[in-house]
Amino acid sequence: MKQQLSIDRVKSRPKRSLGQNFLNDDNFLRLLSKNITTNNDTTIIEIGPGKGALTNYLIKKKFKYLYLIEKDYHLSVQLNNNYKKFDNIKIINHDALSYDFRNFYKHNDVVILGNLPFNISTQLLFKWLCEKKWPPFYRKMILMFQKEVAERIISNHNKKNYGRISVASQARCKIRKIITAPSKVFFPKPKVDGVVLEFIPSIKYKDLDFESLLTLLKKSFSQRRKKIKNNLKNHVELLEKLNINLDFRAENISVEEYCKIAKML
Ligand code: SAM
Repeated sequence: MKQQLSIDRVKSRPKRSLGQNFLNDDNFLRLLSKNITTNNDTTIIEIGPGKGALTNYLIKKKFKYLYLIEKDYHLSVQLNNNYKKFDNIKIINHDALSYDFRNFYKHNDVVILGNLPFNISTQLLFKWLCEKKWPPFYRKMILMFQKEVAERIISNHNKKNYGRISVASQARCKIRKIITAPSKVFFPKPKVDGVVLEFIPSIKYKDLDFESLLTLLKKSFSQRRKKIKNNLKNHVELLEKLNINLDFRAENISVEEYCKIAKML
């Protein structure tokens, strides 16, 4: 009995390797939840529901299905117990990074959301931005990032924190900051604050080959201090044609300009 209790305690201890910082502030959760709009036809996909802090607000909303993708087996068992009376809530015990989201292609009005584990948040974002078919299967994403990453995502050109992730995200989506999550709203308390962003897929650069854009960004930002004519030395003619100052550095080139270059590669 004693041994079982201590095994249970170890199982329920937050796992750093899985980025387990659970939300435990009702005011914050209420505010976040207010920003999540759904209807009777919505499929909500929550990534990393953990112990269900946000899920408990989601179940009060309108939705057709609610999918919970949780990598931690023990938490997925708890979630199964908590929500077993709902036949439109499905728990998927899987790594969201390797999960095949094509399973949702036939669903209407998909909303992806989650207080993501900080250590894999950018990988997950890229997975959804890299969807081949654009606009993609989701209508909206509402995702938590560590503050510094969120600031890079929404940064504009000519700013120090403007980089690959800013251009890639803004070429694909309209992005809005929803709310800051001070570190004290989590348990255990992380070293940094979080920020929740909303992403709405945009068709502004619908015909863009996203893979070409990513390759271009990799070359452009590989050495940030170098001038663009050096980082893109094989495309100087193209830069001239687009009236892009050859002495600019990667951070001085706008999202629109990067998309124009990528389209002509
Ligand atoms: N949503 C909960 C909350 O706000 O209290 C938990 C958020 S916690 C930051 C991240 C959650 O994602 C944890 O429950 C963790 O087990 C889960 N997780 C970590 N890596 C994952 C992965 N690759 N795929 C799915 N879930 C993952």
